[in-house]
Amino acid sequence: MKYLKNVASLVYEAEKCTGCGRCVEVCPHGVFVMRDKRAGITDADFCMECGACDRNCRFGAIKVNSGVGCAAAIIGGMLTGGEPVCGCDGKSGPSC
Ligand code: SF4
Ligand code: SF4
Repeated sequence: MKYLKNVASLVYEAEKCTGCGRCVEVCPHGVFVMRDKRAGITDADFCMECGACDRNCRFGAIKVNSGVGCAAAIIGGMLTGGEPVCGCDGKSGPSC
């Protein structure tokens, strides 16, 4: 599922990638794949900014602003006219 185009905060620095494959394992939306012994991004618009890849990359190759700023929360806020909250902070209900 895609959220909004070109809004995900996902930043990937290929030169820091060791090819461990952890990001491929943990991403629930298949954003990462292995290409030539390094991670590659299929389509950043699939990213829901859950932060799993950032938390699991031990080599600092991935940065994501996870939590309140995630695309799902933005959409929810647009639909309801309220604050963008999706539960990623663990306080507001089920996480996306
Ligand atoms: S977790 Fe980090 S080091 Fe491992 S493959 Fe993904 S980007 Fe590369
Ligand atoms: S933040 Fe979540 S959805 Fe986005 S690339 Fe990382 S693991 Fe995948």
